[in-house]
Parts: sequence; C-alpha cells; structure tokens
Amino acid sequence: MDTVEIIEVSPRDGIQNEKTLLSTDTKLELIARAVDAGIRRAEVTSFVHPKRVPQMADADELVPRLPKGSGLTSIGLIMNERGFERARAAGVDEVNFVIVASETFNMRNQGVPVAATLAEWAKVSALAHQAGIRAGITIGATFGCPFEGEVAVGRVVELAVKVAEHKPHELALADTIGCAAPSDITRKVGAVAKAIPGMPLRLHLHNTRNTGLANAVAGIEAGVRRFDSSIGGVGGCPFAPAATGNIPTEDLVYMLDRMGIQTGLDAEKLIETAKWLGEQLGINPPGMLHKAGIFPPKPEPSVAAAE
Ligand code: ZN
Repeated sequence: MDTVEIIEVSPRDGIQNEKTLLSTDTKLELIARAVDAGIRRAEVTSFVHPKRVPQMADADELVPRLPKGSGLTSIGLIMNERGFERARAAGVDEVNFVIVASETFNMRNQGVPVAATLAEWAKVSALAHQAGIRAGITIGATFGCPFEGEVAVGRVVELAVKVAEHKPHELALADTIGCAAPSDITRKVGAVAKAIPGMPLRLHLHNTRNTGLANAVAGIEAGVRRFDSSIGGVGGCPFAPAATGNIPTEDLVYMLDRMGIQTGLDAEKLIETAKWLGEQLGINPPGMLHKAGIFPPKPEPSVAAAE
C-alpha cells in the first residue's frame, strides 16, 4: 500500500503568527497530542530572534522537555549559524534551514541577500554533518513571492541545484503564500526532481487560496511522499502579508485515507486536537474536518448492538 509521511508543523508554522502566546506547557501538550495521534516527525520550534517571532522565544527551553522515547523526530527551523548553534545546544534531532527563492522576500525574512543565505547554508550543513544532526532545507516562496510576483521554474531549479551541493537529507519546496495551483506543483516538482534525481522531496503547502489539498494530490502524483501540515490548518508567516494557515493535518489525513494512502495517523484524535488548539488560541481553526466530521460516521452503539 502507498504511504505518505506527514510532518506536523503546527508547533512552529501553525502558531508563530498567532496573537495569543502559548505557554511552553501548552506547546508540549500540543506535541504530545500530535504524537498520540501518530505523528513521528514534527517541526517543534524555530531558532530565530525572539523579537522577530515572539511566539518562538522559548525554543531553547522547549526542546529539552520534549517527550523522550516517544519515537518523535524533532525538527528545529533555522536561518543561520547562530540558529544552528542554539538548535544543537537544545538537542533537536534535525534542523530545517530556510532560504527564499526571491531576493526581496529573502531579504525581509532573513535580512540578507540570497547569496549570503546560500553561503550560510554551506557552513551550517558542514557543521550539522560534523555534529551528526540531519540537515534539510526548505526553499520558501517557490511558487510565488508576495513582493516580486511570479517565481520562474528556472530560478527554483537553479537554487535547488545549488543547495543540493551541500547534501541536505531532504529538500522542501514551500508555497509560503499559498498561491500555487496543481499545475504549478506538477511543473516545479517535476523540474526539481529531474535536476536533482534521488533527492527526497517534501512539500510545504499553505491553503491561503483554497488550493492546498488539490496541490497535495498533484504532489503525490508527481512522486512526493512527504508533506508538511498543521493541525486545524492554523498558521501563517509573519513576514508574508495575508499569509494564512498550512493545509490542515486532519483534512489531509481524511483525504488520503479515502484515497487508500496510509499515513499512520488517527483522524479522530487529530480532530479532537484541532478543537483543543482552537480553544487555546481563541480561534475557530480554518480546517474543515473538525466541523464536518469523518464520513461515514461511526455507527451509534445501539445500532451496532442491533446487528
Ligand atoms: Zn509556512
């Protein structure tokens, strides 16, 4: 049977843009609930400047308190060597380095030009290999930039080839502002896969324009088997105007279940957590499955007993 790995990103991308600051305890409960629902890999925080992203200010305290022996692989998002050193000290299993496909957005997000971020990636990748920490990389704004508009396929391929020279264990293509349509996914994933054969690809999709799940299907058809998603579909980027949430984990799991694709995740538990997370944040999460429920619904106990 076909399987897909889902990487839970609600503890990082999901909550980083929310006005309500969650306590470290609440974040740990979110991660524990995700693990209980079957999540085995999660982006748990980011090691960026606390003034830039106040929600992630507790990164150094959170990681050492992650549940041990739960089988969870923790990922810390980083943007530079300083972030890597903090992530290593905190004890993450993996780092996810971010570079952005467009100059303007890279400057707004990381504060330096793309070339400087590339040089930083080369350095961090070498340090991670030495330290025995898996290092992956995400190319942000792969499908479009809020400041520069369209991002050419050639630009994405060129950057993917350059970052692949420093041997990430996987490469994620991010639709940071949720502007892609399935045909964009087919074209860009296909071009990158052709340019760097054998590189495991991961898709990071946002549902800003309601194309997220359609894009996930296009990704699967293009051969991608790793997807980021966020419980409840919460999320957004503080540096991308009007960015909204990631594709909702439970909606993705429901769809994949019905397509006969295994995820190892329990949609009922994810629904409960989506509702719980909404209460913690004081919002009604944008995901749909927690409102509509799973189809077909579980039979009522009395009906089951009558059989
Ligand atoms: Zn994102």
